[in-house]
Amino acid sequence: MRDVVVPLADLVLGARCAGCGAMALSLCRPCGISIRPDPTVAWPDPSPDSLRGPAPVVPVAAGLNTDVLRRVLVAWKEEGATRLTAVLDLQLAAAVVPHLRPGRPLAIVPVPTSRRSRRQRGSDLVGDLARSTARRLTVTGVDAVVVPALAYARSTRDQAGLGAADRRANLDGAFRLDRRDGLQGRDVVVVDDILTTGSTVGEAVRVLTAAGQRPLGVSVVAATPRLPETRR
Ligand SMILES: [Zn+2]
Repeated sequence: MRDVVVPLADLVLGARCAGCGAMALSLCRPCGISIRPDPTVAWPDPSPDSLRGPAPVVPVAAGLNTDVLRRVLVAWKEEGATRLTAVLDLQLAAAVVPHLRPGRPLAIVPVPTSRRSRRQRGSDLVGDLARSTARRLTVTGVDAVVVPALAYARSTRDQAGLGAADRRANLDGAFRLDRRDGLQGRDVVVVDDILTTGSTVGEAVRVLTAAGQRPLGVSVVAATPRLPETRR
């Protein structure tokens, strides 16, 4: 019986744990426990100038981009498992909380999604994740809105597979301020899914700072542990 039930459930519901492949609606319990958010300051080394000063824009990650969390992010980002937004929003919300100031409303600014990735993935994944995260924070009483303030100013290459220097060059001047409605009177936090070299969030912070909206912090689901750079 089990032989029949398992593949059928898989076919109908995609009912596999994204962390280990066991039967589960999105994540099995052990995998869920293993990625419990642990918000940690995650400065990339070297860190982008725009994050360092004048007031540091501190990056906080809910976890590391390894093991179960990495597999969940790959399934969400590359394999169309958008149902995992409902798992990852808890991670991102936990990474936003350390930036909250009592009584201050919050504007969450997602890094923009390129046209290429919107086409490949069929949606604005980080924007959707930001909106889901804002709803989660709102439920807990935080006045949080998503302001899609940034847009691409030009086309870029896919960051995956580029070394740190190429990533910086690829993103340099890549974003522009698209709108500022909704930012006034709110603390600004930039969000993204994964922080690797910090080039993407660094460019987002640079543009917002130039527009007079210096963010308080950066929040990401996961930080990628840095390997020694081999490409120059
Ligand atoms: Zn699992």
